[in-house]
Amino acid sequence: MKHHAQARHATTAPVVKSSPRTNEHLFEIRGSDIQGKGAFALVDIPKGTRLIEYTGEKISNAESDRRYDDDTMTRHHTFLFTLSSRTIVDGAVGGNDSIYINHSCEPNSESVIVRGRIWIETTRKVKAGEEIVYDYQYEDYDDYTMTDYLFYACRCGSRKCRGTIVKVPPRKRIKPKRAAAKKKKS
Ligand SMILES: [Zn+2]
Repeated sequence: MKHHAQARHATTAPVVKSSPRTNEHLFEIRGSDIQGKGAFALVDIPKGTRLIEYTGEKISNAESDRRYDDDTMTRHHTFLFTLSSRTIVDGAVGGNDSIYINHSCEPNSESVIVRGRIWIETTRKVKAGEEIVYDYQYEDYDDYTMTDYLFYACRCGSRKCRGTIVKVPPRKRIKPKRAAAKKKKS
């Protein structure tokens, strides 16, 4: 099994021209049912609101591989974000609260790239108390096996959960053994 050093694949994020503005006062960081800490809306947040910039040290793919080797990790846990084919942002160095925003297969926000900077924006109205989530879209590789997909297992709890954070084709759903059992009609 060979894992690739995974970075959040955002190279397809829309590039927009509006001026950067941050709204970190609209959410708080606290414990999440999805994983560890998460970001939760403090008030109702309108659709299209720019929440926070995804900051961190800009590094090369090679440097990313040097820093993080998924093969030696028992659990995937990095704060990498693919900015372009050559540049990765490492939120573990100089990052902010944006690193706590969890992944979901049924997100209410998305990442957008504006002149070389990454922003997290809402894609629909987010109600007060709701967890802010976006799709990390980890890159899919031809040589990935079920073990690889489950290494990046998703526990977002959404009905639309594809089972993995890897951006697999729409019809492909990764199911852990227990969840694969047939449902009985009661
Ligand atoms: Zn999911």
